[in-house]
Amino acid sequence: MASNLLEFEVLIIGSGAAGLSLALRMPDSVRCGLVSKRELSEGNTLYAQGGISAVLDSADSLESHVADTIEAGAGICVESVVRQVVERGPDNIRWLHHEGVAFTQTPATGDSEFHLTREGGHSHRRVVHAADATGKELETTLVERVRQRPNLTLLENHIAVDLIKRRQEGAAKQCVGAYLLDLQSERVVSVAAPCVVIATGGAAKVYLYTSNPDVATGDGIAMAWRAGCRVANMEFIQFHPTCLYHPKAKSFLVSEAVRGEGGRLLLPDGTRFMPGFDERAELAPRDVVARAIDHEMKRLGSDCVYLDISHRPAHFIEEHFPTILARCLELGFDMRKEPLPVVPAAHYTCGGIVVDSHGETDICGLFAIGEASYTGLHGANRMASNSLLECLVYGELAVERILTRLDRDIAPSSVPKWDESRVTDSDEEVVVSHNWDELRRFMWDYVGIVRSNKRLARARRRIDLLRIEIAEYYGNFRVGNDLLELRNLVDVADLIVQSALRRRESRGLHYTIDFPEMDPNQSQPTLLIPDNYVRRPKTR
Ligand SMILES: Cc1cc2nc3c(=O)[nH]c(=O)nc-3n(C[C@H](O)[C@H](O)[C@H](O)COP(=O)(O)OP(=O)(O)OC[C@H]3O[C@@H](n4cnc5c(N)ncnc54)[C@H](O)[C@@H]3O)c2cc1C
Repeated sequence: MASNLLEFEVLIIGSGAAGLSLALRMPDSVRCGLVSKRELSEGNTLYAQGGISAVLDSADSLESHVADTIEAGAGICVESVVRQVVERGPDNIRWLHHEGVAFTQTPATGDSEFHLTREGGHSHRRVVHAADATGKELETTLVERVRQRPNLTLLENHIAVDLIKRRQEGAAKQCVGAYLLDLQSERVVSVAAPCVVIATGGAAKVYLYTSNPDVATGDGIAMAWRAGCRVANMEFIQFHPTCLYHPKAKSFLVSEAVRGEGGRLLLPDGTRFMPGFDERAELAPRDVVARAIDHEMKRLGSDCVYLDISHRPAHFIEEHFPTILARCLELGFDMRKEPLPVVPAAHYTCGGIVVDSHGETDICGLFAIGEASYTGLHGANRMASNSLLECLVYGELAVERILTRLDRDIAPSSVPKWDESRVTDSDEEVVVSHNWDELRRFMWDYVGIVRSNKRLARARRRIDLLRIEIAEYYGNFRVGNDLLELRNLVDVADLIVQSALRRRESRGLHYTIDFPEMDPNQSQPTLLIPDNYVRRPKTR
């Protein structure tokens, strides 16, 4: 990086399904910067296994996809949004195929040109996939494509620090760029851009156990909130019931298919417990199984429970679960002979930055797409394989709006330089790592799968203390990756706790023992409004 000041027409922060698809849909004439915190491919998209939902067989229908999504969302999806996303699904899959993403095609399902699988909540086969590694195929193909595009400047190993905005007297706020920390040179770069897109993914790293990679620290959500954007539905965090419990396998999922093929969940003493919670036992929906495991772990004070499929023949396990078996063997567990230790893990952030029909936030020129955003699609529970679809559709919609903005010939703004004149290097990195661990542990214990007012209040007090410590640290020391992520995680933790405290019922993924029933009078999203919020004029 030669200069401390860069200029683009569009700055895209994040290179998962959302950021990459948006970047590739930009015309060659538009100069864009594409930023990622690590190498381009690292993010949730790379690890997606199942696939992408879209109506591609004439035996299926758009109406049915809409109805299934709304049903999964427990009464608070925005129907117009669901319709818009579902309707654009088939063309987006064809676009990906055209870009070179090799979906599994045989045996084709009905009259679709692709093989379609069926997942929880879907009443038809409608999930396109690339074997059991859809995210890897999508991510690596699109990364290859962006590397060929001359209008894209790729900024890997750069972490966005904060947005730069401007407000003229009486006018709405305008985003004019962002500060990025170059993790190699350790210098902060100012970037000027009339359009900035947050595509930074989810925030599941705020929990001790998560299926998400390390980059999922909710940076975009925290930056947008600090800049004055509203945030919605942060209480709805989806937990996957079975992640391998092993210090080295931080985020390895043991697929639901293991339970589907007869895997039983056991307590440490070998007792099977799911039949006592639900008549469908291990085949109950994800959130029911996750809640039961959480209940038993808390009741017994145990670190994990066990998933046992060793009663099935070894050759069956070898044929059906080659990837899981291989990874577990590497870590010293032989699932053909013994139960696997598992814990539930934070998996998907349903809420996020509030956006309009084209992904624009409350700040003019600032967009949010993908898992970082709240569009209204998922409501209180995400239906499997709808999230990658949302990334693609909102990438496309945001491009439409951005191009109209750029047409208006916005004059480039000068952006202030990053001021480091009053800070020094920290000699107490231990404070940051200690606070990271503490935050993720109490979020797991107090704001996890089963909540109560008392636990949420406890978490809130701890968050307030951490916030003071971090503000002090941030004001005095040179910024680094861990400090920036911690600051963002604390902001996101606060948003989750505030949202959970406001929802005085149990709905979808939010379950509290103080209000265990759903309340029809609370069928609205939870909207948090920052103190510095300024209403944006409606876009025609
Ligand atoms: C194990 C697993 C399996 C899944 N399976 C499926 C599935 O089968 N189907 C489905 O639809 N969904 C699935 N999901 C969910 C889906 O993968 C995600 O919702 C989706 O990939 C999110 O894409 P994204 O582009 O919004 O973010 P990501 O793919 O997470 O990308 C985020 C990007 O932002 C960058 N970034 C973050 N913060 C900063 C910062 N401060 N500065 C610069 N860059 C930053 C990261 O480096 C990364 O490039 C799964 C998720 C997981 C974890």
